[in-house]
Amino acid sequence: MCSTSTQLVHCSEHARLEEEYLEARDRLRNLSRLRALSRADERRLADAVAMAIARIKEHTAAHGCERK
Ligand SMILES: [Zn+2]
Repeated sequence: MCSTSTQLVHCSEHARLEEEYLEARDRLRNLSRLRALSRADERRLADAVAMAIARIKEHTAAHGCERK
């Protein structure tokens, strides 16, 4: 049994969604720090972050899995 990886997040789908969220957030942070973003790009990346958060909430509500 591999219990080490399941201790943090015991739902693989939840973990995947969370990873997507962190990726989107990092992308937004890194690019906005470089100031290479147009308004439209910044908006698009911010939307991606918001969408990722919404997906996690939706999944948690539907699936009943909560990260402890
Ligand atoms: Zn789940």
